Amino acid sequence: MPALVAIRNDYDRCAPYDGYASWQAVWEEETGREFGKCAMIGCRNEAEEGVQVFKHNDKHGMCFYIVPLCAECLTERFDSYFRVNGEDMVLVDE
Ligand SMILES: [Zn+2]
Repeated sequence: MPALVAIRNDYDRCAPYDGYASWQAVWEEETGREFGKCAMIGCRNEAEEGVQVFKHNDKHGMCFYIVPLCAECLTERFDSYFRVNGEDMVLVDE
């Protein structure tokens, strides 16, 4: 199911879990899949980075999820909500 999300403002200052080189590595470990397409609905680019997002209906911003995004979506969607594939969301354990 698609989910309406926005990129976490300080996503680039969040270090991945100990023992992981990147959030991509965390995402691949938890899904058992390799990075493929960008998670944004309608985007066909290859994903380049595991980015933290939060859901639109999460008013308190307490839960973050890792999604694979391409460089274009990462830049263009920075200030707005967009839809991603729910199956591409991995909950961040903080
Ligand atoms: Zn994209």
